[in-house]
Amino acid sequence: MGKIIAVFNQKGGVGKTTTNVNLSAGLGKMGKRVLVLDLDPQGNTTSGYGIDKQEVEDTIYEVMLEDISIREAIIPTEFENIDLVASATDLSGAEIEIAEMENREYLLKNAIKEVKEEYDYIFIDCPPSLGMLTINCLTAVDSVLIPIQCEYYALEGVSQLMQTIKLVKSRLNPNISIQGVVLSMFDGRANLSIQVVEEVKKYFKGSVYTTLIPRNVRLAEAPSHGMPVIYYDTKCRGTEAYLELAEEFIDLEEDII
Ligand code: ADP
Ligand code: MG
Repeated sequence: MGKIIAVFNQKGGVGKTTTNVNLSAGLGKMGKRVLVLDLDPQGNTTSGYGIDKQEVEDTIYEVMLEDISIREAIIPTEFENIDLVASATDLSGAEIEIAEMENREYLLKNAIKEVKEEYDYIFIDCPPSLGMLTINCLTAVDSVLIPIQCEYYALEGVSQLMQTIKLVKSRLNPNISIQGVVLSMFDGRANLSIQVVEEVKKYFKGSVYTTLIPRNVRLAEAPSHGMPVIYYDTKCRGTEAYLELAEEFIDLEEDII
C-alpha cells in the first residue's frame, strides 16, 4: 500500500505533466486512491486538475519548508479518488532555501510518511531540473516512471537520467526502482516514431509499457479546461490511451504482488 512514484525525466516537454495528470486520473477512475503532488514550480499539474495555485494557502512549499503537516495541504479534487497537494510559485526560490536546511534531502520523504498508507499510489510531478526539489523527490519515492517523447534524439539525456537515479540509489534511496517507461507523442504514420520505440525498447529492455501514448490534440487542450483528458473528452484517442496505460500499470503492479 502507498507506493510513491516520481514521473521524472530532466528533459522538458516530454510529457511528464500530461502523464502525471492523466495516468493518475485513470487510476482514480479505476478505484485506486491517489494523491498527486505537484513539485514543479510551473504548477501545470495543479492547474491541470482545475486548481488555481494562487488561491491555495498551504502548498507543497509550506509542507517542505515551514513544517506544516501534509494533511493541511491536501486538497480533495472534483475527480474520482484524486487528492492533490498544490505547487507554489515560491517553489522556484526553494532550491536555495532547501540547500541550507538540515536533513535537506529528506524533507519530502519525511513529510509524506504521515499519509502514505492512506493511498494506493502517490504520484509526484518533478521539475525538469536536477536541483534539490528533484533530489527530494527521488529520495522519497519507491519508483520512477519515465516518459520519453517519440522524437529525434529521444534517448539524448537518458544516460544522464540513469546516472542520476543510480547516484540517488547509492547515496540516498537504496530501494528506488524503475516503475516503467512510457512512450509519448507517438505517431504511428511516422517511421521516426516507430524507430524510437525500437531504440527505447532496446535500451530499457522489459521496462517499456506496451501502451503507446499517441499525439492527440485533446491531451493538449484538456489542461486549459482544468481537467484530465478522461473527463474532458471521454472518447478521444488520448483518453483511450491513458485508460489503457492505467490498466497495464495495474496489471503489472498486481503481478508483482
Ligand atoms: P513536461 O511536463 O515533460 O514538460 P508536458 O506534459 O507539459 O511535458 O507536455 C509538453 C507539451 O506537449 C504540453 O503543451 C502538452 O499539452 C503537450 N503534450 C503532451 N503530451 C501530448 C500528446 N500525447 N499529444 C499532444 N500533445 C501533448
Ligand atoms: Mg511538466
